[in-house]
Amino acid sequence: MFTRRQFIYSSSVAAAGSALFRLPAGAQTPAQPPPPTVTKFEDLRRNVGIFSGRGGTIGWLATPDGAVAVDAQFPDTAKACVEGLQQKSPKGIQLLINTHYHGDHTGGNIAFRPVVKSIVQQERCAKLHKEFTTKNNTVENQAYADATFGESWSATHGDEKVWGYYYGPGHTGGDAVIVFEKANIVHMGDLMFNRLHPRIDRPGGASIKNWINILERVAKKHRDATFIFGHAKPGLAVTGPASELLHLRDYFTAAMDYTQKGIKAGQSQEQITGAETLPKFEDHASSGQILTLKGVLTSAYEELTSKTE
Ligand SMILES: [Zn+2]
Repeated sequence: MFTRRQFIYSSSVAAAGSALFRLPAGAQTPAQPPPPTVTKFEDLRRNVGIFSGRGGTIGWLATPDGAVAVDAQFPDTAKACVEGLQQKSPKGIQLLINTHYHGDHTGGNIAFRPVVKSIVQQERCAKLHKEFTTKNNTVENQAYADATFGESWSATHGDEKVWGYYYGPGHTGGDAVIVFEKANIVHMGDLMFNRLHPRIDRPGGASIKNWINILERVAKKHRDATFIFGHAKPGLAVTGPASELLHLRDYFTAAMDYTQKGIKAGQSQEQITGAETLPKFEDHASSGQILTLKGVLTSAYEELTSKTE
């Protein structure tokens, strides 16, 4: 098991809840907190690795000169990540970078804030992070970026050079691709869902058309790299080669073609988005209410029929 994600956590809590209905009449409901999430550090190569807990996969670099984290999950698992990185790198954590604004990647920022010198985000990510957390009244639970970049950013830590690149809208309007140059490892954030129906955050500025471009460009540019994925279907890896990016590109291309054909044939949105499977991509799993084929096809339909895109 490589990772435990927020939605899996939620469904196990729901399952635990339904078990309560089987208690004999009059029995006391046990007031037990959910079990702590299992967390795990794994080495990839050249002082770069991944941390799995709850939420999007965290990438890290730990050199004798200090550590860097990419994404922050939620406060509880972020705390475990901070403690582990402090042990790996006695000079402490220099930097936290967020790939995008979603709560399962930025919620743990507050656990990093007291110990890092800087939190870096792409500028659109920073804007979305402020906007959505203001709207949701969670500002006091956030730690925002103190440094932002437009097209690209880089910093040297020990003998590693870390880069951030912005390729335009994809999973949200502000996704950064983070590259550990010497290790040849690329953190995709949620631009990569391994065999899961992806979330397409249209209110946050997502674009399937450009997401397809991003996957193609990044796979070409880093053809021999190891990639870190935001999420994966249970039992599958949260890391993999460039061919996995091209698989997701082909999935999106198939979803857009299927939707476009339905529109041309005069089918209703309900008919189009009601498809049970996407041919050739039946192995993609759903998770919860958000990561579903219907969600993907609805986004595709909206994007293809929007007058402004
Ligand atoms: Zn996300």
